[in-house]
Amino acid sequence: MLERSLLTLWEQNIPFLLLGGGSNILVSDKGVRGLVILNRCAKIKVKDSAGIQEIWAEAGGMLGQLSRTAAETGFTGMEWASLIPGTVGGAVYGNQVRTVVKYANASCWQKSCTVPKVNCHY
Ligand SMILES: Cc1cc2nc3c(=O)[nH]c(=O)nc-3n(C[C@H](O)[C@H](O)[C@H](O)COP(=O)(O)OP(=O)(O)OC[C@H]3O[C@@H](n4cnc5c(N)ncnc54)[C@H](O)[C@@H]3O)c2cc1C
Repeated sequence: MLERSLLTLWEQNIPFLLLGGGSNILVSDKGVRGLVILNRCAKIKVKDSAGIQEIWAEAGGMLGQLSRTAAETGFTGMEWASLIPGTVGGAVYGNQVRTVVKYANASCWQKSCTVPKVNCHY
């Protein structure tokens, strides 16, 4: 749904700013030009692929929940995020999860693609 909305905005040339938790932004008194979208696509789940567990998270998933899910699954590396009021998408954008990201699904200018970690420019 979010992806479809973004594609429509790109098609219509409508400027927008996508936000997660809003914990890492400063907004000018002049406001924001365009549409501000709060990402509430927040599913986080543990997937089992051929006996290997991995955590799959939507970009609007909260870092605290991701951190708890990781701990419950026996993974390390996300402890620092347990109390941060931000989202997975914000942390991917800000380069804060580089050690644990395997790949990211991204939408960009009318295209969707899977970006392996090696191409995330971390
Ligand atoms: C109290 C506190 C403690 C912190 N401690 C640490 C720490 O110990 N270690 C550490 O590494 N970091 C730390 N951080 C940083 C934290 O990881 C980031 O603030 C957080 O990940 C940003 O997420 P957000 O959803 O709030 O982003 P937002 O503030 O909503 O957005 C930040 C930027 O990301 C962009 N963005 C957000 N979601 C998406 C998306 N889905 N797709 C594309 N762009 C997107 C926005 O457009 C914006 O430019 C801390 C932050 C806070 C507030």
